[in-house]
Amino acid sequence: MSTTERPRILVVGGGYVGLYAARRILKKMRYGEATVTVVDPRSYMTYQPFLPEAAAGSISPRHVVVPLRRVLPKAEVLTGRVTTIDQDRKVATIAPLVGDAYELPFDYLVVAMGAVSRTFPIPGLAENGIGMKGIEEAIGLRNHVLEQLDKADSTTDEEVRRKALTFVFIGGGFAGAETVGEVEDMARDAAKYYKNVKREDMRFLLVDVADKILPEVGPKLGAYGKEHLESRGVEVYLKTGMKSCVDGHVILDNGLEVLSNTIVWTAGVKPNPALSRFGLPLGPRGHIDAEPTLQVKGTDYIWTAGDNAQVPDLVGRKNGNENAWCPPNAQHALRQAKVLGDNVVSGMRGFPQKEYSHANKGAVAGLGLHKGVAMIVMGKMKIKLKGRLAWYMHRAYHGMAMPTFNRKIRVFADWTLAVFLKREVVSLGAMENPREEFYEAAKPAPAPAAAADGDKPKAKAS
Ligand SMILES: Cc1cc2nc3c(=O)[nH]c(=O)nc-3n(C[C@H](O)[C@H](O)[C@H](O)COP(=O)(O)OP(=O)(O)OC[C@H]3O[C@@H](n4cnc5c(N)ncnc54)[C@H](O)[C@@H]3O)c2cc1C
Repeated sequence: MSTTERPRILVVGGGYVGLYAARRILKKMRYGEATVTVVDPRSYMTYQPFLPEAAAGSISPRHVVVPLRRVLPKAEVLTGRVTTIDQDRKVATIAPLVGDAYELPFDYLVVAMGAVSRTFPIPGLAENGIGMKGIEEAIGLRNHVLEQLDKADSTTDEEVRRKALTFVFIGGGFAGAETVGEVEDMARDAAKYYKNVKREDMRFLLVDVADKILPEVGPKLGAYGKEHLESRGVEVYLKTGMKSCVDGHVILDNGLEVLSNTIVWTAGVKPNPALSRFGLPLGPRGHIDAEPTLQVKGTDYIWTAGDNAQVPDLVGRKNGNENAWCPPNAQHALRQAKVLGDNVVSGMRGFPQKEYSHANKGAVAGLGLHKGVAMIVMGKMKIKLKGRLAWYMHRAYHGMAMPTFNRKIRVFADWTLAVFLKREVVSLGAMENPREEFYEAAKPAPAPAAAADGDKPKAKAS
């Protein structure tokens, strides 16, 4: 890392907020005015709204992530985890990928560590569940689902088949509904390549404790989303929780029991628990308490935004809801990051801070190829769309929102290719253990006599 005398702006987290805030600061800053340091355990930002499409193979996983060093050439990018913040000394402790932790001094701080999956102590969940927060999980889920089809195709054991062909999704928000929609579409489409697996052999369950799915698009479109998924054979269980899933034996609290190798957990998110070690003021649900200027309450050199912050929703409050907070979504994260970046530069120069205020523009959700729901807010008007048109809106909105021109082109190229070529359905399950085959090949071969003798080690003849 650089040892400059310039003030350091330390950005903790290179996700949506971190990436956009750093870019904004670098754009607004004079040459040499400060050093911008971005720390993240991953060397790339993940565009999470595209994870369901990556899991379905509609977009190449590499095109859903943005390499931080490439898009932030003027910043110092450190791959590691910020573990503590000492506000008195203005020093952060960083645990790098390898080696000892070290301290990094800063003058201004941006905390943008996002959220993590919200889980509960459900028996079997930690061992059998898979989340949908990162690209690794999306790749893993796709390989896993296709591998289940391979397994089912190659066995005559009815129980093994049923377990392989039953897919359970817990949580019906954006992440859960979009993922079940995309994965169901992909898996049933892939069935045509299997002799012993038919579309109708597969069972998909979407389970949520709430009384609706897709709350982000409003009750009517949420109801449409549910009906639509049901019309495709997805069983939707609302006001229902999962009690247990030990060894893939899923028990719901409505009494339903199924065997499944695939339990996708998307039942909401919570602010990054590491925040509790930073000594910052937290709200009742663990978010950093932010002013409308995105400054952390009680500080004038720390800013925060995105999923790890509770930011007052000034538009909602103006309209009479005194307790309105900005919801944790990409729409707010992006806009907050820009205001935050401007405010950091203003703060450094001793200028006043701007307040963040943004009226909801609506929401779009894709539910598989050519299927989706959308709600577009235009002033006082709400336009509700469903089906193919909503799906086009979903693709247009997220395609344009994808950071960097380079990634936009790659995503649009993936979609265009998919129009002419069939969807890729190969399972690369071996990616999980890429060294296995080489390890077997490189293992010393047993002596012929030993092999014949049940591999028993023999004393070497002298
Ligand atoms: C599957 C899925 C689908 C979604 N779909 C939509 C959608 O359709 N529309 C929409 O508006 N929103 C959607 N969202 C929500 C949206 O992606 C988030 O609101 C947005 O990414 C929040 O940005 P953020 O910067 O706060 O967090 P993130 O983008 O998650 O970034 C946080 C970063 O902090 C890093 N970090 C964590 N711990 C540390 C540490 N100790 N030190 C340093 N760095 C750390 C992480 O590695 C990560 O890079 C979706 C989310 C998911 C998971």
